[in-house]
Amino acid sequence: MEQIEKEKEASRLIKLIRGKFGEYGDVEMPLNQIKIISDMLEPYCYGGGLIKMIEITCYKCEKCSKIYTDKEFAKKCCTPKYCEYCKCELPHKYYYTACDSCREKCKYERAEKIDFKDYIKNNPNGWITTKCGHIISVDELIDRIEDGEAFDYVYGTNVQYIEINYDQIITQLQEEVMFEDDFEIFSNEQLNEICEFASNWNAKNRFKYYEEDRKVAIII
Ligand SMILES: [Zn+2]
Ligand SMILES: [Zn+2]
Repeated sequence: MEQIEKEKEASRLIKLIRGKFGEYGDVEMPLNQIKIISDMLEPYCYGGGLIKMIEITCYKCEKCSKIYTDKEFAKKCCTPKYCEYCKCELPHKYYYTACDSCREKCKYERAEKIDFKDYIKNNPNGWITTKCGHIISVDELIDRIEDGEAFDYVYGTNVQYIEINYDQIITQLQEEVMFEDDFEIFSNEQLNEICEFASNWNAKNRFKYYEEDRKVAIII
């Protein structure tokens, strides 16, 4: 079997298996399992129509019945988790190892502290990030402070630009044709054309937006 056909067959089978797992809800499929499946595909060849039966061991959480291919994930599923700093119990399915308030404390401690007056001096038309993660203008912050809202500190912002990502487009195009039976490879000329268009568009349209700069805490 040609390498490319093997890869196509592997992705098809993995998709199929993932679909089956999907029926059980949130099932994680670790990469090593996917690798095992790809390796087992050897006898699954086109012409001969041979199919090798494979079995995967799964683990079910006794409490919520979710199924995992990874034993350690299954074990941890419904066991209570605690904040690594204050030891309070974390909500079920909480992604972080520390609670919201401890995470905020750490974030603030790590940030460089700047006085609000100094920040305004350097960023007269600037933007800031509130503790809840909202990006607002310095003017709006001043208005809200004057209206009596309490801010002890906020975070800074970084300028970002919205750009067409050339690599992502090419990858997406190539992924799409890979699943067709009669796919053709794009020529270098065709790909270069997309690259050129993206570069020109990005240079011409500098769409600005702001994102949180958690390295700077502005003391109000
Ligand atoms: Zn569970
Ligand atoms: Zn905590």
